[in-house]
Amino acid sequence: MIPVTKTFLPPIEEYQKIIKVIWEKNWITNRGDLVNKLEDQIKTKLGIWGVIATANGTLPIQIALKLLARNGEVITTPFSYVATTAAIVWENCTPVFVDIHPEYLTIDETKIEAAITNKTTAILATHVYGNPCNVLEIEKIAAKHNLKVIYDAAHSFGVNYNGQSIFNYGDISTCSFHATKIFHSGEGGAMFCKDFSLGLKMFYSHNFGHSGEEDFVGLGINAKMSELQAAMGLSILPYLDQLIEKRKKLVTAYKEYLLFDHLRDLQIREATEWNYSYYPVIFDTEEDLLRVKTKLNAEEVFPRRYFYPSLESLNYVKSPAMEISHSISRRILCLPLFESLDLEEVRKISDLINLTLKT
Ligand SMILES: *Cc1c(COP(=O)(O)O)cnc(C)c1O
Repeated sequence: MIPVTKTFLPPIEEYQKIIKVIWEKNWITNRGDLVNKLEDQIKTKLGIWGVIATANGTLPIQIALKLLARNGEVITTPFSYVATTAAIVWENCTPVFVDIHPEYLTIDETKIEAAITNKTTAILATHVYGNPCNVLEIEKIAAKHNLKVIYDAAHSFGVNYNGQSIFNYGDISTCSFHATKIFHSGEGGAMFCKDFSLGLKMFYSHNFGHSGEEDFVGLGINAKMSELQAAMGLSILPYLDQLIEKRKKLVTAYKEYLLFDHLRDLQIREATEWNYSYYPVIFDTEEDLLRVKTKLNAEEVFPRRYFYPSLESLNYVKSPAMEISHSISRRILCLPLFESLDLEEVRKISDLINLTLKT
């Protein structure tokens, strides 16, 4: 059986060695040594200004919206994981969808200005599959209309754009360290920002608003990462380059073996050092996708329709149709991609796809 993804786990001894300190100090959460160490290592590894580790990748989106979107209208993408839209609604903001670019699959920045009203407070866009949004253009639009910019960078650990970490863009960027992501801590996530006073607000927000044992600066929630999660992150971070390198090899093989007849793949934005976190392919028709999926399933290969459906069709939002996102979401399939996949398997999957599309 070949699944779409398989969680990478380090040798168990490496995890055991790291968690020893938890027993030695009897300290398992509330920002212990391991969370602090993980944050330091991430900062150094990625070359970023500030990071706060969190319990998952959804809470930091909620915190960012709470601090920056203030119950207003939030311009967002319909082509993302459901968490992006759900966080907006959960925080009592109103999602206003803007369709995506047909090749990059990120929010179409040329359509953002038409969606701005006097209630718009923020833009929340996703670097889908680690492919950066047009961050420089979005920054200009936001400055002109006095809007805040939040990036759901859940897929983007290790991605650089224009020579620096993608997490350095926007007022706040967020990431997920869920077990299905390229870098993970089981469950987990992080939020990033360059502004010291905003960073301080984020810090208080993720720990109930505590500024001392009996003092609170304001409203907060519990978004803290535990020491066990941090230990998993610490045991995987040294493998990051190797994980990206292996995926690059596999993606290169897919590109070589697939015939791209009635099929295309993702266009990565120029000036990007990509992390190869997913390998989505786009069929000419949904019927082709379903035929290929059935064929692969019969051979014990399980790709995933991701993202499907387009988020403007969720039953708890109101939105006009997003034609491009709707069309892409019906025709896009993520092929298996993970550390222990081998080139023979990529060959087999590619051959099956080529054959199915030919008949
Ligand atoms: C995984 C993911 C999230 C949510 O992250 P969790 O850690 O599962 O809470 C949010 N947005 C996108 C685009 C994701 O892929």
